Order: sequence, then structure tokens, then C-alpha cells
Amino acid sequence: MRWERQRAGTETQPALVGLDDLVRSVAPPEFQGVTFHEVRARSVLNRVPGESLVPFRWTVNPYRGCSHACRYCFARNTHTYLDFDAGADFDSQVVVKVNAPEVLAAQLRKPGWAREHVAMGTNTDPYQRAEGRYALMPGIIRALATSGTPFSVLTKGTVLKRDLPLLRSAAGEVDVGLGVSIALLDPELQRRVEPGTPSPRARLDLVRRARDAGLPCGVMVAPVLPGLTDSAEALDELLAAIAAAGATSATVLALHLRPGAREWYGRWLARDHPELVERYREMYRRGSYVDGRYKRLLAARVGPLLRRHGFARSGDGAAVRPPSDSNPNRPEPRGEQLALL
Ligand code: SF4
Repeated sequence: MRWERQRAGTETQPALVGLDDLVRSVAPPEFQGVTFHEVRARSVLNRVPGESLVPFRWTVNPYRGCSHACRYCFARNTHTYLDFDAGADFDSQVVVKVNAPEVLAAQLRKPGWAREHVAMGTNTDPYQRAEGRYALMPGIIRALATSGTPFSVLTKGTVLKRDLPLLRSAAGEVDVGLGVSIALLDPELQRRVEPGTPSPRARLDLVRRARDAGLPCGVMVAPVLPGLTDSAEALDELLAAIAAAGATSATVLALHLRPGAREWYGRWLARDHPELVERYREMYRRGSYVDGRYKRLLAARVGPLLRRHGFARSGDGAAVRPPSDSNPNRPEPRGEQLALL
């Protein structure tokens, strides 16, 4: 492992950008098959490269690798920067920045910090199972709120329920955005394609709990898996469940397959769904993004379903749910910046 050379007290290599001091590696019995590499980070506030089209400039990722183990995860290739592989290592060798709250608080105190929006859950999941053990997010949330920094969290992890009171209190000080990813409802397919994640029903319950706590909460219906989760019936059922959970917005995105994810997902597809391989080869022949024809087909299918379930397209492209629910404690949707397709 490249960063092992940075082990505290050893002197073999100059520091590499973003790599940190290894404290220890542990494999707790309750996390079968997962090893945590605890590191002391030098920086946890990451600037998004200027050429990126994402609507935020800063991210925080307390973990690298993710035991949620989604076959399609687009962050897989980032694990190769640590000399791990983008497949099973990404799922099972999780780097934990154990000092993330303190380092972040110090970075946010610097006079030059302009309190721009910080996004979490954009690379790996901050509420993956490790968070139940390390509890880094409460300190991170407090550091952001205290410094007056607005932030958002996107997750599949139900560990987030633990922090709802804290998030509610942070929302009194800064803008807080919450998003939950739910790509499908079928539990059998979920076990095969997202084997380490909480069930879709548990994630719907997370949405419900967030809304009952008075927080806006959008759902990312992402990724839509061509030939597996994209039928009108499946999307209709999923959007109905998302609306019933009280989600304030829904965003539907087709699968994209970056290097790393492309190979890992492709291997799974060839084993479990060989009948789809040729179709995928054709749809992703130009690279990571699905071809325009499929995008148009999906948009035509999804548009009426979003309307049917009360998600109206707003001027900025977000699919936002009007505040028609009956819970008076629920705040109005704030129009999260979510692009449809
Ligand atoms: S939860 Fe997100 S970060 Fe974790 S494996 Fe799945 S897609 Fe990747």
C-alpha cells in the first residue's frame, strides 16, 4: 500500500498529495471481511477540480473505500491511488480518517475560508457501516455548522438516523441538504448489486424519519440500471414509494460506468446477466456515459411518472415535490439543485 510508507515514525518516501499517516489496521470480528486502516489525515477539505461540472466546489470524505460494495460504484478507481484494487479491495479495505473532525474544524477556522457549500457523499458514503464504529460525522457536522458553512449529505446508510437531531439543530444555523440514494426496490437484486447496503425499505424509512425530524430530504433514483431496473412498472413503483415516504425531490440518473466500475460491474453482469452484455457494450461504446438514445428513452418514461407522483419539474431542472403533505412540522422543500437525467 502506497500510504503505508507514510506510517507515523517511518521515513521512506516523501509525502504524497492527500495521503496520510497510518496509525493501525484493524479487522473487527463484527465487520466480517473488512479491514479498517486508520490514518491521521493532514487535510480533509478537498477542492473539486475546476473543470468539474458538479454544483459544489468543496467536499469532505472521512472514509476511502466503501463496504456498501455497490458493483457500479463510480468511486472504485480512486482506490487504486492507494495501491488497492478497484474491486474487492474497494469494498473491504476501508481507510478511516480518524482525526477528520479536528482537522476539518482547524481548516474551517482559517481566515481565508469563504464558507462555501461542502458536499459529503460525493465519493464514498460517509454513513457506511464504519460510521457506526467511528462516529466521525457528528464532529464534522458540528465543525461545519459552528463555522457557518452550509453542507449536504448524500447516503445509503441508515446510520444517519443517529444524527438526525444534530442535523436538525445544524439546519437552524446553516443550510443543510439531505439526499438518500435508492435505485431499486427489489430486495433480491439489491443483495446482488449493492450487497453491503441497508435494504431499500430501510432507506425509505430513513427518508421518512428525516422528514419527520423536520428536514428536507431528496432521493436520488440512481443509478437506473439498463435492462434491470428501468421498466415503467419498476420506476412507477419506486417513485410511488419515494413519494409516500415524503421525499422533497426525486432525481433520476442513468448508470454511468467509469473505469474501475466498468470492469467490476461488467464482470458481475457477465456472470449474472450474460444476456445483457452485448446490449451494454453497445450502449456504453463511447465511454462512461450511456448513449443519447437511451437517455432520451428514459427521460420520456420518467417524466410522466414524476408528475404522477407529485414531483413537478422546477425552473432549474429539479424535480421537486410540492408541499402537499399533511405534517405541519415538515419544512417547505428548498429546491435542491438536482438535475433530471
Ligand atoms: S454507497 Fe455509494 S460510495 Fe458506497 S459503494 Fe455504493 S455507490 Fe459507492
